[in-house]
Amino acid sequence: MSSIVFILVGTTHAGNLGAAARAIRTMGFDTLRLVDTVSPRKDEALARASGAQPVLESAARFDRLAEAIADCQAVYGTSARQRHLSVPLLSCREACEMAATSITSELAPLERVAFVFGRERSGLTNEELDLCTRHLHIPTDPDFSSLNLGAAVQVVAYEAASALAAQGGGAPATTSGKEEDPPVSSDSMEHLHAHLERVMINTGFLDPARPRHLMRRLKRYFERNRPSENEMAILRGILSATENPRPPAPEKRAPVPGKD
Ligand code: SAH
Repeated sequence: MSSIVFILVGTTHAGNLGAAARAIRTMGFDTLRLVDTVSPRKDEALARASGAQPVLESAARFDRLAEAIADCQAVYGTSARQRHLSVPLLSCREACEMAATSITSELAPLERVAFVFGRERSGLTNEELDLCTRHLHIPTDPDFSSLNLGAAVQVVAYEAASALAAQGGGAPATTSGKEEDPPVSSDSMEHLHAHLERVMINTGFLDPARPRHLMRRLKRYFERNRPSENEMAILRGILSATENPRPPAPEKRAPVPGKD
């Protein structure tokens, strides 16, 4: 079930790495990615993995979240807080059902979907949440909403496994027209953001000295509804044409009879 990957960002307690490995392994998953975390080979990590050491040992390591999600077409960022409302916020169950549907879709299944978990103290940064297509919140007591990292991974892994089992056991996943044309992966989105920024700076629309959250707003806008490959080609084509304008040839007028 490596179409679902679990990504931990900035984990500081080795024990939580082990707990997360165990949590996903118990639910039948095996792919963990680590972004700027402590070493998964620390004794405490291996001890808490309790038999799920292979998951820890095979975990790929990255410096930045953008690299860890480069091959993913949908990215669910988990948050203990109900902030950042501009990208749709889903309950854990809704998000896992959506992820399972997109993976099991008969017409155009997504190849890789990520669930991303933040730092024990401060969660994910706003910039990291901006890289996510959806935000996921595990419903809790509003006055006490922060689960331990390993516990949060367990809840999401359980819901994801349940949703996948329900999809596999029931009728084939329904597919909307949109899924026939799946969204691009995160590295393609990164290229779009860089291209947009370049064009906005070069046309004077964006003053790098006074960026006013413009890039963040645009990123959120595009993450709410990621373009397909075709749509991305159109968007990139428009940006390239803006960089190298080729004005249309002047209209050739038919000679007016009786004149000249
Ligand atoms: N103080 C941090 C909480 C970090 S808890 C904050 O306010 O953001 C560590 C991680 O566990 C979070 O980044 C998130 O990935 C996950 N987590 C904890 N509680 C959660 C909840 N209720 N819903 C979704 N994810 C949660």
